[in-house]
Amino acid sequence: MQEIKLTSVVHSYDSLDDLPQVDKDLMNAAIGARGHAYAPYSHFYVGAAVLLDDGTIVLGNNQENVAYPSGLCAERTALFAAGANFPGKAVIKIAISAHSSDFEVVSPVYPCGACRQVMSEYEQLSKRPMEILMMGSSGGVHVVNGLINILPVAFNADNLKRK
Ligand SMILES: [Zn+2]
Repeated sequence: MQEIKLTSVVHSYDSLDDLPQVDKDLMNAAIGARGHAYAPYSHFYVGAAVLLDDGTIVLGNNQENVAYPSGLCAERTALFAAGANFPGKAVIKIAISAHSSDFEVVSPVYPCGACRQVMSEYEQLSKRPMEILMMGSSGGVHVVNGLINILPVAFNADNLKRK
């Protein structure tokens, strides 16, 4: 038996102001996108901003539905919009911000498991690590460089190949 240790690296910033300007702009785009979230059930408004390799920013936000599982998270809304409208463009970064009308979201909000899986697919397509920037409605920002930090040993297309 062999023990395999997995390591994640998270860069923690105390404030949005501590980020490089390009990242601050992307997070501000995510914060703006949050304002158009459709979240009448959870009151949890999430915005996502995807940066493509040609500088294009694609926005998304959570879209809920009275039949709860029919809704979709902000991250997947943004990534699928990017894939649909800008096919072949590499995804460089995604910024995520969440706000609640019921409480203060002070900790960075990480993507759900399903969104991490979708991010992993686009990262593979993009052939480079995707940078993920996460924050709540206030407080600090967490940044990871690559899905490996939040979805290690991911299921990917290689698993479907015959050896
Ligand atoms: Zn999600």
